[in-house]
Amino acid sequence: MMADGESPKPAVGGAGDIPFMCRALGLAEIALGRGDSPVGAVVIREGRTVGEGVEGVRSEKDLTAHAELKAVREACRTLGTLDLADCTLYTTVEPCFMCSFVIRKAGVSGVVSGKAETRVGGISSKHPILVDTSIPGFPPPPEVVIGVLEEECIALFDRRPLTGAC
Ligand SMILES: [Zn+2]
Repeated sequence: MMADGESPKPAVGGAGDIPFMCRALGLAEIALGRGDSPVGAVVIREGRTVGEGVEGVRSEKDLTAHAELKAVREACRTLGTLDLADCTLYTTVEPCFMCSFVIRKAGVSGVVSGKAETRVGGISSKHPILVDTSIPGFPPPPEVVIGVLEEECIALFDRRPLTGAC
């Protein structure tokens, strides 16, 4: 489920993704403990964490409190820019339409997710706005990888114990 091939942007889809996805899983566990969906996200630039987000829709009574949006917002503040080229976002679940819009607008270079989201996801649904290249004037899509530590991400949603991959 990934565009492998040669990309000049940060390499995603390898063993280097695991520690960052484990961090996203840790943030997702925090969300779950607060009664929110188990979504956690981190934004990485040159191996350094520049943004993190914990899902908070229910606990914060905020429909925009998605983990990915929070992580992107923090990354923009950390770096002092709206341009997140050379950044990779890791999230436990494929980003939704809302988050996909923001990820595209910020020019994030790579998106790595665990669980696919076929209903409202920006990659796997009928409206793949995260990767759609036909939207006039929209920035180029990021390189995307789905299925990294997928079992762990699904386990959180199913309220099952993690397998210990982290
Ligand atoms: Zn979202």
